[in-house]
Amino acid sequence: MTQLISLGQKPAAPPDLVPIRFRDVAGDVLLTNPWGDWVFVSQAEFADLARGHLAAGSDVYTRLAERNFLRSKVDVEKVAAAMRNKKRFLDYGPNLHMFVVTLRCNETCVYCHASRAEMDAVHTDMTPELAEKCVDLALQTTSPAITIEFQGGEPLVAFDTVKHVVKYALQRNRAYGKDLGFTMVSNLSLMDDEKLKFLVEHKVQMCTSIDGPEPIHTKQRVLVGGSSYFESVKWIERINKAYIDLGLDPTLYHVEALLTTTRDALKKPREIVDTYINLGCRAIFLRPVDPFGFAEKTRAKIEYDRAEYREFYRTAVEHILDYNRRGEQVLERYAAIFLTKILQGEDPNFLDIRSPGGSAIGALAYNYDGKIFTSDEGRMMHETGDDSFVIGDVRTATYRGLMKHETVRALILASIREVQPDCVSCTYAPYCGVQPEHNHRTQGTLFGRMRESTLCSVHKGIQDFLFEKLRENDPKTVEILRRWTTVRERTHFVHASAAS
Ligand code: SF4
Repeated sequence: MTQLISLGQKPAAPPDLVPIRFRDVAGDVLLTNPWGDWVFVSQAEFADLARGHLAAGSDVYTRLAERNFLRSKVDVEKVAAAMRNKKRFLDYGPNLHMFVVTLRCNETCVYCHASRAEMDAVHTDMTPELAEKCVDLALQTTSPAITIEFQGGEPLVAFDTVKHVVKYALQRNRAYGKDLGFTMVSNLSLMDDEKLKFLVEHKVQMCTSIDGPEPIHTKQRVLVGGSSYFESVKWIERINKAYIDLGLDPTLYHVEALLTTTRDALKKPREIVDTYINLGCRAIFLRPVDPFGFAEKTRAKIEYDRAEYREFYRTAVEHILDYNRRGEQVLERYAAIFLTKILQGEDPNFLDIRSPGGSAIGALAYNYDGKIFTSDEGRMMHETGDDSFVIGDVRTATYRGLMKHETVRALILASIREVQPDCVSCTYAPYCGVQPEHNHRTQGTLFGRMRESTLCSVHKGIQDFLFEKLRENDPKTVEILRRWTTVRERTHFVHASAAS
């Protein structure tokens, strides 16, 4: 049950009640208000509210008043300041700039999102001239901080381009003085000592994929002539040791690894968590498979019902919580994103779960051939024949032109969750986010039908689980969940550059 009650609607709410949304959670009723406060009431208390009864001074009255649910008690200045703070990402332009330096890749993955090319497809390498134009454009952003993320294909295949971009960006940034960072998403199998030395010296943060225990990972990510799993693990350990040798805290500085949850992975939630923890990872992102960048026939093989995913998620996070109860500090990223909004009233600016979404105004993707996309998802759809999210070319584009592009405007409108059909009356609207590219890909419309959306099903399922935990109110669990909302900045990876 989820619904929006406001004054004037039936059933009649007490006149002092602000507009609320409500949902059954663990036998009680969760109420949220438009600015993100939440409170549980019993079914009986809710029935009274729905009949318009609210006795001043009662227990439920006090709880509602404390949480800004009563008009006469709302501290408007405080609420406005909190809303301004949550939306402060709107004051900046895109800070994430994804460079597809090549489409070539030496691994073949069953779910390949990136639409890889064979290793001899050298025409899919970004030229140094185009790479410089991408850097020049990225530095035009109004954001005071930017991250250049190297993607592919496999970026280690085009390592000369990576090196060129790093050096050129550092040099050009002297004129801009932005906080500049680099990340690389790599399968690590083409790493060698020389590349590692360059990446560590130039503070390029590294991120890889681990799809679970060795048999699952190796089956899903085929590396001809070797084991994709053992190659990744070998280099994760080497890179983590390099950070320790620099005197960096290993609980904060280590290779980040991403999971893509496939059908095989669904059966192994605990083993997947164990694998990550044994590799030294302290943040596990239990991402479901995306619908982008692969053909329909592949989708039929690897897709699954999201009810199965929700079950997998619950089991895996319970297992992570158990680790925490035994003293390990490890978190799940989806949970941390939602909990930061639910418990801290802060928005961590995760681009896919914010309102409006981060397409173009939070991130841009630059393809090897110079085409610019609103997001990596838009870029992946281009590789499967859909050009809906191309917004320019680095040879001719201007920053202003990109930000004012009609596609960008449409994406902003379609990702303001407070006015989307279904989201508008969803209890979780204050914390959630919609991804118009996902709607477009799966439903053929930017404005999705959330009750049929697999992404909505994931978001709703995760928030149900988290609010159930908050309703149980076990002090140790709540303490762990609160700890997951603490952001520890990785300042080592930021090239703070004063403009000269
Ligand atoms: S995407 Fe789904 S869970 Fe999120 S606000 Fe919209 S309807 Fe609610």
